Amino acid sequence: MTPRQSRRAFMKTTTLAAAVSPLGAVAAPAAPSIIRSRTARPVVIASANGNFHKNGGSKTCVELAFERLTSGTDILESLIAGVNLVELDPEDTSVGYGGLPNADGVVQLDACCMHGPKKRAGGVAALEGVRTPSLVAHAVMEHTDHHLLVGRGAQEFARNMGFTIEADLNTEKSRKAWLEWKRQTDPKHYLRPEDRKTSAHVDHQRILRRLIADGVIPSRHYWGTIHCNGVNAQGDVAGVTTTSGLAWKIPGRVGDSPILGAGLYVDGTVGAAGSTGRGEANLFNLSSHLIVESMRQGRHPKDACLEALRRIRSNTIERRLRKPNGDPNFNITFYAINARGEHAAVAMYAEDDNERGWAGQTDGRRVRYALCTEEGPKTLPCEGLIPGALQDPA
Ligand code: ASP
Repeated sequence: MTPRQSRRAFMKTTTLAAAVSPLGAVAAPAAPSIIRSRTARPVVIASANGNFHKNGGSKTCVELAFERLTSGTDILESLIAGVNLVELDPEDTSVGYGGLPNADGVVQLDACCMHGPKKRAGGVAALEGVRTPSLVAHAVMEHTDHHLLVGRGAQEFARNMGFTIEADLNTEKSRKAWLEWKRQTDPKHYLRPEDRKTSAHVDHQRILRRLIADGVIPSRHYWGTIHCNGVNAQGDVAGVTTTSGLAWKIPGRVGDSPILGAGLYVDGTVGAAGSTGRGEANLFNLSSHLIVESMRQGRHPKDACLEALRRIRSNTIERRLRKPNGDPNFNITFYAINARGEHAAVAMYAEDDNERGWAGQTDGRRVRYALCTEEGPKTLPCEGLIPGALQDPA
């Protein structure tokens, strides 16, 4: 831990290029007073899918974001450009286009973003029909007096801002996964053609095992998200989190990802924190805010993340959420950075077996995160609070 952070000298400046709107047609707002730290080592940190998907291009999210923020692009726009790659990539079924849908088969997306120097934020929740909810969250931030728009209102806002609204964001892959889920949970109405020919018995476990083996769904985790935060050489900090949320969720369920203080929190003078994993645990504890406040008091990002994980662990008292030994039966990961560029990624369990290393989140056993510095992009193992692995509760 170091107290240096809280004693950092900051200078005010009123000059920063206005953010480039995702909507070329809408005028950028006047630049506000900006609070900036002096220097930092530029870093971008993200969940592991940030160094996995490329959407057919040559760069991953963290690479693209790092390239932008080191060549003068606004810090938040750089990070959003990075996560847009993942939102648009149909192969990532946890974010944006092709994200796993809700119980009704509808893809509902959550996202939020925060700009440290500008002290602005925006978010959208349960948004349907727009592939890049992070850009809509950015438009909420830049073009409204509000911080969060949801559901139909968020979609109408996006339409009015010039975003294309699509009838359905499912891909063949996400629809197939939803249909298989329906067949498992409602086998009387959603029949599998082969079971129809042979027997009336449906072996749910067998279907689930096959879905995992085929890579249709990740093992155990029916959720997924990308969180990405970063700092540039001027010490400007920002962050963005975007997700399709929990697969097969009750329509209208909103997770932690679009909620300021939960899925993301940024204070330009301190740092940023964000999360992936069980959103309900994070919503209850508002952990990203807790982590930033902890860093404000001088804690290193790793210690601040560990503190938040301890809080979640002690607040998890319901039996259904605990393993026989009393520890949480879910995983959750925090990604934190301070304004000097020190960073950490810490999971409740650093070991979380996932045979296929789904979306790069694990290497089969170890939970990973993505990082980009001047040394290039890397996927690295996370630290963990609780030793050992999260055992499959099944
Ligand atoms: N935290 C997200 C949610 O609960 C899901 C995830 O990150 O895996 O919606």
